[in-house]
Amino acid sequence: MSILIKNGTVITLGKNNRVLKNHSVLIENGRILMIAPSKKLMGRYTTVIDAENKVVMPGFINNHMHFYSTMVRGLGKAKPSKDFNEVLKNLWWRLDKKLSLKDVYYSAIVMMINAIKHGTTTLIDHHASPFAISGSLFEIAKAATIAGLRVSCCYEVSDRDGKKVRDEGIRENEEFIRWSKKENSEYIKAMFGLHASFTLNDDTLEKVSDTGNSLGAGFHIHCAEAISDEMDSLKRFGMRVVERLNKFGILNDKSILAHCVHIDKKEMDIIARRGSYVAHNPQSNLNNAVGIADVVGMSKKGIKVLLGTDAMTVNMPEELRVALWTQHLRQNNPSAGFMEVARTLLFNNPEFASEHFGVRLGEISEGAVADIVLIDYIPPTEFNENTVLGHIIYGISEEVVDTTIVGGRVLMKNKKLNLDIDEEEIYRKSRELSKKLWERF
Ligand SMILES: [Zn+2]
Repeated sequence: MSILIKNGTVITLGKNNRVLKNHSVLIENGRILMIAPSKKLMGRYTTVIDAENKVVMPGFINNHMHFYSTMVRGLGKAKPSKDFNEVLKNLWWRLDKKLSLKDVYYSAIVMMINAIKHGTTTLIDHHASPFAISGSLFEIAKAATIAGLRVSCCYEVSDRDGKKVRDEGIRENEEFIRWSKKENSEYIKAMFGLHASFTLNDDTLEKVSDTGNSLGAGFHIHCAEAISDEMDSLKRFGMRVVERLNKFGILNDKSILAHCVHIDKKEMDIIARRGSYVAHNPQSNLNNAVGIADVVGMSKKGIKVLLGTDAMTVNMPEELRVALWTQHLRQNNPSAGFMEVARTLLFNNPEFASEHFGVRLGEISEGAVADIVLIDYIPPTEFNENTVLGHIIYGISEEVVDTTIVGGRVLMKNKKLNLDIDEEEIYRKSRELSKKLWERF
């Protein structure tokens, strides 16, 4: 089975980022077989996609996501919160307790359809449903397989609902990690999930560290999202959050620390030394009024900063734009952080995901997996290797995704889903389930 994408402007990204005009990309068996000037690839192919007036670029990767939050959209019942801890108590920790496995599945598939429409082809999820834990990660994996996306799952262990729920969370991570290792799929992977330092007791961290590290897993945890996480750790344990997590062996070179808005320079050094990743989620940080992470400072220390959305959106170029504006504000300098921010989504996310999924992701190059998006775009100014990152952030981010391909499977073509599912029925079911969920809330 071969697919030819012809007449496109190819943005390769990867180590030798190039802009190739009027080029074609040949896909075979889920991999990119060849990239060449369009007139050189004129043979017969199973499928031909015309990319005229479009850019052809790697699919986007979201490195911190919560599918389960889908059904909160429009819910007005939570009382106003004055800080981040109240947001958790008044909204998220009331909602996640009421989720059923069916809600988990529909929340995931709805957001996955949305991801395909925005050209996001890989997502690293962080899941919570304290009273529907067992099997929850498998529901998300089932949705991912139907949607055809690359998804990594983990369950957020915490002590907030007692030992029984905590142990069930640990077990779900363990079972899912073992299953994904056995499956050895290029599409579904696992991490070991933890909520955050302030909801984790020492004995839990010890237990989780033993289990996760013995399985060779990376940990995925919220870290210093609000200042209260640091205050809690200092007060209860006499050390900062990153020091505490490091003490328990949570920071390995596969781990993701989401947010890190309030870490200090010493904590940055520890993260850099351990080789852990930080996932930056600027829209969520603005929404929760917790502050803006120092992406420039972390990058200078050698930390690989990733970009996630914390479920605010699945539109990664939109998140990238906000990441740049907020970094200007954080550094109090409208020229600061361009490369540091561009690197998060376009280079660091692919580096993490390639390692995690065991395939070459995030670049249009021969041998890489064919995770490719076509976006309508006619450049109004000079468009080449020197200007392409500016075009992505200031221009392409505003345009419409036309075609989404993952592993050589065309999931959307000409802006129409190409999946064996009834999209309308899925959305109808989601509205029906969310209505019931809101009644239980
Ligand atoms: Zn999060």
